[in-house]
Amino acid sequence: MKFILTLTFAILISICFKVNAQQQIKIGLFRSSELNIIEIKSSEETIKVKADNIFFSLPINSTVLISAISNEVSIFTGNFNLGKFKKVEIEIRDNAGMTLKPVSPDYPENKYTEILLICAKQSKLSIINKLTTVNYIVGVLRGEIGYDKPFNCYVVMAILAQTYAEGYLSRHRIDNFNLCDQTHCQVFKGYFKYAPYQQAAELAKNKIVLDANGNIIEGLFHSNCGGKTQNSEDVWRNDLSYCKSIDDSFCLNQKNSKWTKSFSIYDFCLKLNIPFNTAQTNDFDFCSKIQLKNEAREKEILIGNKTINTIYVRTQLNLKSDWFDISCTGDSVLINGKGFGHGVGLCQEGAIEMAKQGCNEEEIIQYYFRNVVINERKKILFNN
Ligand SMILES: [Zn+2]
Ligand SMILES: [Zn+2]
Repeated sequence: MKFILTLTFAILISICFKVNAQQQIKIGLFRSSELNIIEIKSSEETIKVKADNIFFSLPINSTVLISAISNEVSIFTGNFNLGKFKKVEIEIRDNAGMTLKPVSPDYPENKYTEILLICAKQSKLSIINKLTTVNYIVGVLRGEIGYDKPFNCYVVMAILAQTYAEGYLSRHRIDNFNLCDQTHCQVFKGYFKYAPYQQAAELAKNKIVLDANGNIIEGLFHSNCGGKTQNSEDVWRNDLSYCKSIDDSFCLNQKNSKWTKSFSIYDFCLKLNIPFNTAQTNDFDFCSKIQLKNEAREKEILIGNKTINTIYVRTQLNLKSDWFDISCTGDSVLINGKGFGHGVGLCQEGAIEMAKQGCNEEEIIQYYFRNVVINERKKILFNN
């Protein structure tokens, strides 16, 4: 009896692990492009192709040309026309990459792993990458943080990416996938062999960040806060209890902590819709009215006689952040700014510096997000 119970338990455990190992997520690729023709090949492994009910293998280094013709997918291998199909599924072994090259329009090639689901609508290809969450996180690390960073910083970003994915799993339900590969969701750059990414994604697997009420947080981040992060409600309307402004000394003196940009008074006023006529160009009084020091990171500033929101100024003048001083000499306006990005949540350059100084992922996340905990993910939500 004891043996049977142990065996049953072992089988249950192995089933759980199997389900866990197969957690997959669907990522919509090239959604903003009108892709009509793509080419796929692999120099690493044989690729399996399933076109409706036809199965075949694609040898290493041979290519398959896929195009959208109305609502069907046409397939060519070499000079051989395989015909038109409703659904095409292309698979390569986990941990091997296949190259996808958009031919029409012509975009740079990129690698993807596991499964590509392809169909066509009105002569436009729809491509979905179905892959394990670990491989998804690797592609997000590549898209969102780059190379040669301290390892703990990759772990932090992997946990936040996982948290974001879990929180927004239904974002593209209407499109039949979970997340897109653009900034609308998280930038995903496909498959890439870089050991720190793989190791961080494995370590972060099943870890998510919860707020004081046990809810999944929005793992918001930006490049550099300039020395002070922002309250979420000061940037957007939603008041997130864990995204509160903190003073951040870690990101000072980093690449994006300071910037400058200059404009002619005429352009400056035109873009901000400030009344101006050219006769005022050398008018000292007018120039003095657009001087501004904003040490406290105020959200509303006085320019001339007009009160203007700093986010509006950032958008209109295409600035790196909404925290800046303005000075004016002669007929030009100089803007000295701090930070890069919206300033809410985790400051990447600060987190990198913290990791360099030996802080672990928990210390970094809890520095930028108030009253949060890193938990093991309990539910299996990535079933498709
Ligand atoms: Zn999206
Ligand atoms: Zn910062």
